[in-house]
Amino acid sequence: MIQAKGYAAQTAETDLAPWDFERREVGPHDVQLEILYCGVCHSDLHQIKNDWFPGIFPMVPGHEIVGKVIKVGDHVKKFKVDELAGVGCMVDSCQVCENCKDGLEQYCLEGNVQTYNGRGKDGVPTYGGYSNTIVVREEFVLHISDKLPLAATAPLLCAGITTYSPLRHWKVGKGHKLAVLGLGGLGHMGVKFGVAFGAEVTVLSTSASKEAAAKELGAHHFVVTSDPAQVEAVKGSFDFILDTVSAEHDMNLYLSLLRTNGIHICVGVPSEPYSIHPFALLGGRKSVAGSGIGGIPETQEMLDFCAEHNIVSDIEMIDMKDITASYARMLKGDVRYRFVIDMATL
Ligand code: NAP
Ligand code: ZN
Repeated sequence: MIQAKGYAAQTAETDLAPWDFERREVGPHDVQLEILYCGVCHSDLHQIKNDWFPGIFPMVPGHEIVGKVIKVGDHVKKFKVDELAGVGCMVDSCQVCENCKDGLEQYCLEGNVQTYNGRGKDGVPTYGGYSNTIVVREEFVLHISDKLPLAATAPLLCAGITTYSPLRHWKVGKGHKLAVLGLGGLGHMGVKFGVAFGAEVTVLSTSASKEAAAKELGAHHFVVTSDPAQVEAVKGSFDFILDTVSAEHDMNLYLSLLRTNGIHICVGVPSEPYSIHPFALLGGRKSVAGSGIGGIPETQEMLDFCAEHNIVSDIEMIDMKDITASYARMLKGDVRYRFVIDMATL
């Protein structure tokens, strides 16, 4: 076994703390990374707190992983030692169902294996990127360009693909009015991609203080959702809302901002179900849709698109020991726009 060290939550009631654990040896189809940086996703916080479902503890979170390949199995073809590589939210899937064959491993009919808070096919719990090393089968490892700053590339592995994928699926682009609801880690990537794809982008935010930053990210308009006059002014105006909000919010209100045939795309995952009145949908033939991360081929496509168009996340680098304080700031919406852990501080 490989001796690994990381930060783990021992229970849903305790803070993250240093923890030594074991990872499997590098098998013939595996790649081992030295983890250099790991992004901090709101999903990490939801999961260590059992917001969605009871988790598997001890839990080492982290699914925005970038680093350097330090070992490859005998049958590995796509990666060599010393190359840069990344790992996102999944580390395995059945590989044979229709969704896996279509490159939609996130919707694997047998369920994909999550990078942490999951169990591999061997039944062993998976441990994520708040650690010094990880072993992952080759098919779930991504190529990372050396053209981009590495730390700011880490959040592309979740925040990036989770916003890129639905915008591509619904072909959001020129001529569309896109609203990005919530300007956090996912939201700020949604703005960057929406602008890159040619849409007219409005940020809908609870934080008036984020207006200037939103414009710097490329947003064309900014609406403070606590101001009824500003909200009234955009009623019935958007083709798409990309909803990245992590906490409860009034869906009926936001549906009223869509124009006829508009689509509200849920990517944020609050702990409680939404309550939607049918009238909010049928007046204007509106749809509520959802999207989960993205498949491996599309994740590579997104990383290559970012390398070509010079798109990365806006990050604030933190030391591993500051993770609990960073979670508290993330809960308050006080992050511009993604914390990334410098794993050298582990
Ligand atoms: P984040 O950085 O904390 O951003 C969430 C933003 O939502 C906040 O910055 C804030 O923006 C807004 N917000 C927070 N509480 C709100 C409230 N009560 N009402 C209205 N707006 C509120 O989180 P993230 O990492 O981007 O993740 C966002 C959500 O996506 C999480 O639930 C996460 O679990 C989920 N997620 C889903 C997928 C997927 O596959 N679908 C993948 C990754 C993450 P403003 O200050 O602008 O209002
Ligand atoms: Zn995530």
